[in-house]
Amino acid sequence: MAKEKEHINLAFIGHVDHGKSTLVGHLLLQAGVITEQQLAEGEDKFRYVMDRLAEERERGLTIDLAHTKFETKKYEFTIVDCPGHRDFVKNMITGASQADAAVLVVAADDGVMPQTKEHVFLARTLGIDQLIVAINKMDLVDYSEDRYNEVKDEVSELIKTVGYKPNEVPFVAVSAFVGDNITQKSDKTPWYKGPTIVEALDQLNPPEKPVDLPLRIPIQDVYSITGVGTVPVGRVETGVLKTGDNVIFEPPGVGGEVKSIEMHHERIEQAEPGDNIGFNVRGVGKNDIRRGDVAGHPDTPPTVAKQFTAQVVVLQHPGVITVGYTPVFHCHTAQVACTFTELVQKINPATGEVQEENPDYLKTGDAAVVKIQPTKPLVIEKIKDIPHMGRFAIRDMGQTVAAGMCIDLVP
Ligand code: GDP
Repeated sequence: MAKEKEHINLAFIGHVDHGKSTLVGHLLLQAGVITEQQLAEGEDKFRYVMDRLAEERERGLTIDLAHTKFETKKYEFTIVDCPGHRDFVKNMITGASQADAAVLVVAADDGVMPQTKEHVFLARTLGIDQLIVAINKMDLVDYSEDRYNEVKDEVSELIKTVGYKPNEVPFVAVSAFVGDNITQKSDKTPWYKGPTIVEALDQLNPPEKPVDLPLRIPIQDVYSITGVGTVPVGRVETGVLKTGDNVIFEPPGVGGEVKSIEMHHERIEQAEPGDNIGFNVRGVGKNDIRRGDVAGHPDTPPTVAKQFTAQVVVLQHPGVITVGYTPVFHCHTAQVACTFTELVQKINPATGEVQEENPDYLKTGDAAVVKIQPTKPLVIEKIKDIPHMGRFAIRDMGQTVAAGMCIDLVP
């Protein structure tokens, strides 16, 4: 049997109209996932594919998975939503579509634009460690090497300020519309010596399983199964769970010995990060635990925060955020209303530099360090201890208004 290809979740980010959808359409076409006949007629034929996906998602339809997956020589990729599509940030943070890498699309004619900056900052906040930069629309700048280098320098500067290492990030000169340097080297860019998009994708590293971090399983559901008992279900984020282990659920603080673990209806002895499992714990009843609780080992139990300090970025808020604001925080599988108790300092989203101490309010586009108080017990971890459990999305009025990470906490 052929060895299964390793899997990578890929996000496409960048300013509106810089060519994300067109690039994705081209990749899917060239990978043979879709055919010419499936594309719309005319100028925007590639873009049509992604728009249709977005539309299906908006209407709550299940998307034909074949359309969001493609393979290269080395990996299988799943394309996750682009920011801008509804709920991208929430899905990224709560794990529904965690991206392992992002392709940043920057049009060669425009260069770095406001959303380029915003998405780069967001990608960093969301913990996307690997980046590929596609400098797109090279056809519009006559395939000019000088213009390519100008934009490359501009983007390098930007990504460096948020902590990416530009010399480890592949930059690719492409035209998504024409198809230059996507799967094949283009003869219109003889000066370009770098990889094609597909080669750059094959140079990515597959995600590492955080098996050495403390065990954390955020609970998605709790079932009661005849003959087995109470079965909490969730995805292992970090650490390893074995049959016979003792576990504790926080915030309730109940626990016991793990009698059995199941994945895809089969018994397993050990579960690792990424595994979606159901497990049965001796002495824990259906009403003792609920969605949003987190299982861990008793010697390294999940942290329940009374108060925490966070770095947040306001993505889209129609008004202003002031002390006392209490929206719903989505953190792993938990949804808890939390109050902004102090606006400590406003910072530059790109550089982290302090812009203002104790600002009166925050508005769209602002980044800040703030103090937060959950209205009921919430498990959250410091980003530097367990990154997977330290991020949250803030939702209000049916949309994601901000995203952030926990940088310190009071248990
Ligand atoms: P998105 O908003 O980033 O997804 O951008 P789209 O993929 O929708 O592209 C925006 C517009 O730019 C569309 O009209 C595309 O046809 C056009 N476009 C995208 N890539 C290229 C390119 O490489 N060259 C040219 N000339 N036009 C492009």
